[in-house]
Amino acid sequence: MKVFAEKFADLKILRFAVPGFEALDLTKKLYIYHLSQAALCGRDILWDQNNRFNLRIRAVLETMRRTFKGNRETDQFKSFEVYLKRVWFSNGIHHHYSTEKIPAGFPETYFTELVEQSDWSGFKANSGQSFEVFIAEIQDVIFNPEKEAKRVNLDSKDDLVASSSNNYYQDVTQNEAETFYAELKTTAGAEPVSFGLNSTLVKEDGRLTEHVWKLDGKYGKAIEQIIFWLEKAVKYAENDLQKKYIGHLIEYYITGSLALFDQYSIDWVKELEGDVDFVNGFIEVYGDPLGIKGSWESIVNYKDKEATKRATILSENAQWFEDNSPVAPEFKKTAVKGVSAKVINVAILAGDCYPATPIGINLPNAEWIREKHGSKSVTIENITQAYFLDSMNNGMLEEFAGSVDEIARARQFGYLAGNLHTDLHECLGHGSGKVLEGVSTENLKNYYSTIEETRADLFALYYMLDNQMLKLGLLPSVEAAKAEYDVYLRNGLLTQLTRIEPGKDIEESHMRNRQLIARWVYEAGKAQNVVEFVSSEGKTYVRINDYQALRELFGQLLKEIQRIKSEGDFEAAKQLVENYSVKVDRQLHEEILARFKKLDLAPYSGFLNPVYQLKTYPCGTPADVLISYDEDYTSQMLRYSQDYGFLVNQ
Ligand code: ZN
Repeated sequence: MKVFAEKFADLKILRFAVPGFEALDLTKKLYIYHLSQAALCGRDILWDQNNRFNLRIRAVLETMRRTFKGNRETDQFKSFEVYLKRVWFSNGIHHHYSTEKIPAGFPETYFTELVEQSDWSGFKANSGQSFEVFIAEIQDVIFNPEKEAKRVNLDSKDDLVASSSNNYYQDVTQNEAETFYAELKTTAGAEPVSFGLNSTLVKEDGRLTEHVWKLDGKYGKAIEQIIFWLEKAVKYAENDLQKKYIGHLIEYYITGSLALFDQYSIDWVKELEGDVDFVNGFIEVYGDPLGIKGSWESIVNYKDKEATKRATILSENAQWFEDNSPVAPEFKKTAVKGVSAKVINVAILAGDCYPATPIGINLPNAEWIREKHGSKSVTIENITQAYFLDSMNNGMLEEFAGSVDEIARARQFGYLAGNLHTDLHECLGHGSGKVLEGVSTENLKNYYSTIEETRADLFALYYMLDNQMLKLGLLPSVEAAKAEYDVYLRNGLLTQLTRIEPGKDIEESHMRNRQLIARWVYEAGKAQNVVEFVSSEGKTYVRINDYQALRELFGQLLKEIQRIKSEGDFEAAKQLVENYSVKVDRQLHEEILARFKKLDLAPYSGFLNPVYQLKTYPCGTPADVLISYDEDYTSQMLRYSQDYGFLVNQ
């Protein structure tokens, strides 16, 4: 399987492998297959949530793409194809990240040409509308910059609801929506449902009312299909708790009852025995400037046994790591419990997780459920792996690594070492250390998250080069640890600057923490030349001269950062963050940006899904589920519209 599929505009399409799928037993494969179908059936819901014109625009553009009789070799037709691919990628006409309307990239007169030379027989316009009126409206939405300008507007000067062109509210002002939900909340107790999560708020005859997304309500045609496949999936569930929560989920889709959704979430959190897991529903609220309405998404996944073993080993040895850290004894925990993290592979991505996808899942979102019943936090191994494989081939490593050894180390060990760093950071780093009585996160105020991320990263870096890693079988050789030190400093001192605009400072706390560590060890080891900047043909590189000494410096800084957190030493936190992590060396920044620009990389990536095919015996009994990766992006998009376009022409 090739990871890279194609590139257009500012986007890159990749593929993820589904390792070990063939080796799963048939029941698990069938469970995944039916859940995947349930996942794909919700596609149109998200399109309509994102904007009320999206489904109609998609139908128009796809008809043009299929039936245009004019010359398909012109630049204009190619620009039209890029526009359609961008719309597919964003699940609508707004950029998936900036949420601004995507410019068509071809003239309006060419749109007319596309209309005139395409075949509209059998095309259904909206009921009661002539085709001419319909297409004129679509054209206006695509080309008029004033129309549907931004999907999610967060500019507090504006009415956030009225000025956002998502489809969660109709003829409703921000004030009306906020008042409506604030009043509902006053009726709730300590365990409130997520009011408004699964409905469109509309004004009808001057009164506010919710159009609930359920079987006999809005989006019913797609929800009917989701239920159909969930009901089939239940038969293959691995245990009774899975059966129970799928039952709740189906009931929730039928009734729209948010209390049932909470019931489902609680059972879902408790279910830890099975290998296969999934998310299917109205989940994240980023698409709504008020953070109330849930966009539809689905992910189906199964446990990565090897990688989970890695996290379990760390967790089981948590006390050893605590006892042996360079932190002062009074700031160590006497009894430490590692967080056991689960590592998963995704089988399918859908809705708001497709094609742009998260690399981890942390759900449910309801705060009281998290506190009372816990949450599931997982990292997605096969997605991070695909990103890594792609990064090895995009030219970044050759451009910024300081030597051939460094490149070889990164290729051989980078992925493994990076994962181990993440595990150390998540399973042990954040949970280590203790805070003196009376000290809380508030003591460090705005510097807290940078300090906390710094602490977890240093914990990981310090142990990376420890013999214990080899003893526990977590690393194959010291070279792997060196690969992690290389990439950490290269990123902290050079490559992460590619994400900062010229003239700007560093704001994001993870980026701050990386520069804090990299700059601090560079300065602290200057006299011994532990780390140095070298320049060759106008290009700056980072060279590590003494890995062992570098490890000692990580340890020293960890000791100090832990003290700062434990004592709540605001002044010291401020000094470190402000001196090391915020400011950017302007000249170096310019150089890095210029080198990065030459590589011509796409800033955003998304993933194609593999294709699952159910094989049956002549009698109809399922025999196997086959997986293939050869479908290209356009074919996948057209097939999804064909097979799962349940809400077009509603
Ligand atoms: Zn962290």
